[in-house]
Amino acid sequence: MERSSISFLVPFYFFLLGLIILFSLILFFQGLTGIGKEGNDLTSFLFMMSGAIGLILTLYMIRRYQVGIQRMIKGRRITVLTVEECPNCNYKSVRPFREGDFVYGYGEECPKCPKPAEGNVGNRMLITAIYLDKGVQEERS
Ligand SMILES: [Zn+2]
Repeated sequence: MERSSISFLVPFYFFLLGLIILFSLILFFQGLTGIGKEGNDLTSFLFMMSGAIGLILTLYMIRRYQVGIQRMIKGRRITVLTVEECPNCNYKSVRPFREGDFVYGYGEECPKCPKPAEGNVGNRMLITAIYLDKGVQEERS
């Protein structure tokens, strides 16, 4: 798919998924409240089933969409970068994002400041930004 067609289709796609979820839920609860009433157990059961299948299908589609996005990100070499700054000496470093990084959390130890006593966070840098970086190679083409 083309890049432009993806960005155009995404809102519509989610709007559609939302509609299907809503419809499935209505079907499901319609069936749920109908069960136990005389004579229409089968209809209610069919309502519930189709509602449940609708929900499962939608979840499956969302999952597939997520996998597609992840592949796209890998294919375009988009990386997440973490910016760390030392509050003591203003040393700044940029490194690839690691799990557990968050803005204003503690990053790595500052390579320029002296090591403090054990257990102290004195020379650890602060994470000041986390951002997406698009691969330069892809931009040229
Ligand atoms: Zn420092």
